[in-house]
Amino acid sequence: MAQYTPMIQQYLKIKAQHKDAYLFFRLGDFYEMFFQDALSASQELEITLTSRDGGGEDRIPMCGVPYHSAENYIKQLIEKGFKVAICEQVEDPKDAKGVVRREVVQLITPGTVMEGSMLDEKENNYLASVSEFENGTYTVSYNDLTTGENSIALLSEGFDAVLSELFNRPVKEVVIDSSFDEAKQQMFKDRLGFTVSYSDTTAVDKEFIPLVKDIQKEECIEGFGRLLNYIQTTQKRSLDHLRPVKKIELKKYMSLDMYSKRNLELMETMRKQGKKGSLLSVMDRTMTAMGSRLLKKWMERPLLSSKEILTRHNQVEGLLEHFFEREALREQLKSVYDMERLAGRVAYGNVNARDLIQLKESLTAVPGLLETLHQFNHTAVNHLYEAIDPLSELKALLEESLVDDPPIQISEGGMIQDGCHSQLDEYRDASKNGKQWIAELEARERRETGIKSLKIGYNRVFGYYIEVTKANIAHLPEGRYERKQTLTNAERYITPELKEKEALILEAQEKSVELEYELFIKLREKVKQFVGKLQILAGQVSRIDVLQGFAQLAEEHDYRRPEFNDQRIVDIKQGRHPVVEQVMGSETFVPNDIFMDESNDILLITGPNMSGKSTYMRQLALTSIMAQMGSFVPCEQAELPVFDQIFTRIGAADDLVSGQSTFMVEMLEANHALTHATENSLILLDEIGRGTSTYDGMALAQAIVEHIHEEIRAKTLFSTHYHELTSLEAQLTRLKNIHVKAEEYEGNVVFLHQIQEGAADESYGIHVAKLADLPSSLIDRATRLLQELESTPKEEKSSSEQLSLFVEDEKAKPAAKSSEVETRLKSLDLMQMTPMDAMNELYQMQKKVKQNY
Ligand code: ADP
Ligand code: MG
Repeated sequence: MAQYTPMIQQYLKIKAQHKDAYLFFRLGDFYEMFFQDALSASQELEITLTSRDGGGEDRIPMCGVPYHSAENYIKQLIEKGFKVAICEQVEDPKDAKGVVRREVVQLITPGTVMEGSMLDEKENNYLASVSEFENGTYTVSYNDLTTGENSIALLSEGFDAVLSELFNRPVKEVVIDSSFDEAKQQMFKDRLGFTVSYSDTTAVDKEFIPLVKDIQKEECIEGFGRLLNYIQTTQKRSLDHLRPVKKIELKKYMSLDMYSKRNLELMETMRKQGKKGSLLSVMDRTMTAMGSRLLKKWMERPLLSSKEILTRHNQVEGLLEHFFEREALREQLKSVYDMERLAGRVAYGNVNARDLIQLKESLTAVPGLLETLHQFNHTAVNHLYEAIDPLSELKALLEESLVDDPPIQISEGGMIQDGCHSQLDEYRDASKNGKQWIAELEARERRETGIKSLKIGYNRVFGYYIEVTKANIAHLPEGRYERKQTLTNAERYITPELKEKEALILEAQEKSVELEYELFIKLREKVKQFVGKLQILAGQVSRIDVLQGFAQLAEEHDYRRPEFNDQRIVDIKQGRHPVVEQVMGSETFVPNDIFMDESNDILLITGPNMSGKSTYMRQLALTSIMAQMGSFVPCEQAELPVFDQIFTRIGAADDLVSGQSTFMVEMLEANHALTHATENSLILLDEIGRGTSTYDGMALAQAIVEHIHEEIRAKTLFSTHYHELTSLEAQLTRLKNIHVKAEEYEGNVVFLHQIQEGAADESYGIHVAKLADLPSSLIDRATRLLQELESTPKEEKSSSEQLSLFVEDEKAKPAAKSSEVETRLKSLDLMQMTPMDAMNELYQMQKKVKQNY
């Protein structure tokens, strides 16, 4: 250490306290980074790496970014999940004895950014915290610094439930105890992509006690305390905009675990992990960023209370009825800015005059909005606006205080209207009069000297001056002005009188800017009194926005209002998949009915690959989620139960993302569904058991179906390529076979995408291979093989009853041998094979068949 210069020593000392962050070290007009920070930042940000002498033997790696454009670089680092510590000079270099004092004034982390340019306006930006307790429970708490929102949930179903809770939420960073289990930490990083941060303090400071006054559970207070302490250490500023912690009553909402959220592609697609093509993206017809965020919240937690769901449906119905009024409403919502985040920034203290103008414009739009809602003349819609306080007092305050087009900076004046403050008016007059005097002086001097091109100018160094071109200097009476500066073709002069006025003008200007700053801060404080009410108003407007979006969506795609029943009846006429339909167009999408009454819990779905099994199953899940969010649904008519949970499992081979995921994982996931589902749940099992050898898979699939049938009785859609399972219909009374119809046409398979009763007859695998352009000789050979196999005596084909024989009975062996090829052939996933793989497989099969005959 001693070898380094004092400044580098200072750097190292500060860096030691911020090991996990890039330290932006302020040096004049730059933020510099040194040592390892410089090496990696130069790569991450693609900026030049240099070095400097720091007193040690080697030169120190260094890179830097200009102070004024730092935000952009910080943004890049934050987006990559890093943290940035901003270290400023905290004393004037003129006053410094030795090295200028520097301190970290803010720690910017992915979960705590406030800067508008670093935020996605349509998403909340949560910082989460997870605490584990000895009794096996966990708390998950959330804070959105931009809106001041806080909430907490208590989970008692193990760590999986914690992952499910956090999955797909707009969380960037999680705060945990430093002794948190390593493997679990890794899951936060790998599975959820979070930045992990630590805080070991859980006590809630006295000033924040009011935030937790409604929270009874000790664990919750502690869990929130951890989050709060982390915010305090990163922000180092007043946090009085934080709102009281809301307890999330998980029992009031439909629960969707991680696998379901992912498989159903609610918030993002599996392949690209992008929003495009997700249910959220096709449903969003909101007009404001606040509305978008609320829509996402509703999707994250569909309702269970049919009363609350009905309220939403009633309102959507009302909004749907009047096209013109809804158009007007949508237009008016356009002029509402993000009041929620504006309110957050007012409270946080980083709002500027332009932000307040946005707030004013938003408030100006509110009365019109209320008027339009009134015109719907619909009881349910009336409830949407009756409780709204348009905050006209605040609007008036902003209207009379601010000019319409203020600058972004709050230190340059030009924000406050004339006539608001007499002292300010006087300063402005003085400066205006002074300028007027100067204009008159210019005219007078031109007249008296006869020099037409004489002019009075201003610059920062010399202030006001009189300028005469070289050509005219001869006409200037000797001693009239005092010479100040010589240019190539002009001379600049001053007079004592001019300097006197200049002093007055500048003083007036300086004072008026200072006074404006003060007045603005006062105004900001006044606006701050309204933050609570603004947050309420923002919430009400967001709700209107989401509901009008539902109405708009229903109109665009002809969605219908779903009805609910307590008899666990599912009856959808001409249902559609909301996403696939929008992607392929409603003309081409084939609608299908689905019917499950009290005496029918399980639909076993068979049909060729690519026929539409997965689509059909997801369609029901998505329709239920939409209905319980309060939206109308894609169909002609829908009767639904209120589902408490939805479980979705896809067989490993169909799971595109975790293709490598083993059979074990698949079984663990299925097990999770089986342990948590109730008779009020919906289970989708899509080709489960694919990840293992045929008989294992089939046996397990059958056992799972039986278990659901006997023990759980949840409504279940079960698709399978094990044709043998269709014979279960005879034994399990509440199971019914359905299949997706495909037809053969001139040797090709035509998918009709139509659901029909009963089991499918053929697997059409070979036809699909043809579609995939496998060599025709190979296809021919496979077709012949299949014919051969199909012509083998009936009793040698395995049925589900024979399956048990097969597994247990030695005598079944010969039969096994002859159908081995058949089984193998059936289990091949031709879509996933290269022509070479296919050739190899065929070769093996042929060898087996030759041995047998
Ligand atoms: P499976 O699960 O039976 O292999 P998918 O459900 O994955 O089949 O559907 C395969 C493709 O068929 C989908 O990508 C879609 O393009 C199309 N498809 C599915 N269902 C329908 C439908 N009802 N109407 C029109 N096209 C459909
Ligand atoms: Mg499928």
